[in-house]
Amino acid sequence: MEKKETKMDLLVSLCKRRGFIYQGSEIYGGLAGTWDYGHLGVALKNNIKNLWWKRFVLDREDMYGIDAAILMNQKVWKASGHVGGFSDPLVECKKCKRRFRADHIEVGKDGDGGKGGKDCKKVCPECSGELGPERQFNMMFKTHVGAMEDDTSVSYLRPETAQGMFVNFKNILDSFHPELPFGMAQIGKAFRNEIAPRDFTFRCRELEQMEIEYFVKPTEWEKSFEHFKEQVREYTKDIGLTQSKVYEHEILADELAHYSKRTIDFEFDFPFGEKKELYGLAYRTDFDLKAHSTASGSDLSYYDEEKKERYIPHCIEPSFGLDRSVLAVLSDAYIEDEIGGEKRVYMKFAPKVAPIKVAVFPLLKNKPQLVEKAKEIYQSLRKELSTELAGGIAFDDNGNIGKRYRRQDEVGTPLCVTIDFETVEKDAGVTVRFRDTGKQERVEIAKLREYILKYLA
Ligand code: ATP
Repeated sequence: MEKKETKMDLLVSLCKRRGFIYQGSEIYGGLAGTWDYGHLGVALKNNIKNLWWKRFVLDREDMYGIDAAILMNQKVWKASGHVGGFSDPLVECKKCKRRFRADHIEVGKDGDGGKGGKDCKKVCPECSGELGPERQFNMMFKTHVGAMEDDTSVSYLRPETAQGMFVNFKNILDSFHPELPFGMAQIGKAFRNEIAPRDFTFRCRELEQMEIEYFVKPTEWEKSFEHFKEQVREYTKDIGLTQSKVYEHEILADELAHYSKRTIDFEFDFPFGEKKELYGLAYRTDFDLKAHSTASGSDLSYYDEEKKERYIPHCIEPSFGLDRSVLAVLSDAYIEDEIGGEKRVYMKFAPKVAPIKVAVFPLLKNKPQLVEKAKEIYQSLRKELSTELAGGIAFDDNGNIGKRYRRQDEVGTPLCVTIDFETVEKDAGVTVRFRDTGKQERVEIAKLREYILKYLA
């Protein structure tokens, strides 16, 4: 019997077919944990990224942007604890030799109904073979800087963007003289040699993060923590995620990372298995600045004019995965329904993130007067609206009109504008067709610009 395709399989194939996301190095058989974003994937990702930068940097007066280098002095990673501790538990199956993250394997179900009692052993999830001993596997990609390959030239591809902000803390103080509380924000690539990359772009080895380090007075961390808890939630609304699929999971005290006094994981109902981590929000105390102060010998303290005292600020860290955001948006938007008695797939993107906002068509591709008028309208919309719509205006005269609608539905274009004989012969406006309902409306050409802007807002 043929295996039924899951929603995830369908989404992965749509992403490839329609130019959102491709397997990295695909023509050479791929490279596990790497993905290439295609034309529409880049547009979707940029929209998601820009909404983040707008909410957390442009719309605030207390946030400083930074774009730090990916390669950093190896001492950074010693001081931060990554050289010694950025590792996951690795186990290898004695029979099939596959490797797994030990904490991702469920305990066997025999004996005690899956409660994980002492007789209940973990076995290989692929072949049920016996697993070897657990060992810690450091997830940083190691490299050498310069022509000499010795211990002094070792560097790492950063596994998070956060440290690039801590090491620039003093630069921000010196350049801008901010008062607490204030934050630093960064978007950029990070690299983790994940033991088992999987679930499409959920767990990749090369990923993009959007992170904030928000510095506060030690006694005032709770207020800022609550503020960012609400802001993270608001951001999930900005990118259009269904709110009932977003959960807040308070990490229990005995499960907290050594540097954290409080952490909340924001989880999302991804289509594979149960809810999974989307974002994190952590109170990191003064751990990082203190560690870098001590290790570098550079004074990373702050002088509090009000209290007339000097201290190391404490830090709240909201941390967002960009690839996971894109995946959450893609999987949330994927809908199969029926329209006019025909099955279709459409992506119900919020207009703000949709890679194409408006597509313009001539009703028939072999009627020059229709094509000409359609091109004219397309060009004028591009001229007038490209900035407002982040360039998301497309022209399409391929195949018949029904096929074009299906195609635009599949990439989540909220509006299609069709130019027909009535448009050119009677100046009777254009047809605007809505993605979600398939309904159509006649709109005067002179009012089209306003109409589009109003609908998309
Ligand atoms: P996990 O427990 O899933 O391995 P984590 O707790 O190690 O994640 P953080 O170190 O808190 O993750 O990273 C911050 C954010 O970066 C995560 O919330 C997630 O959105 C994203 N992220 C982390 N690892 C990956 C990865 N391998 N692929 C894609 N995104 C990731």
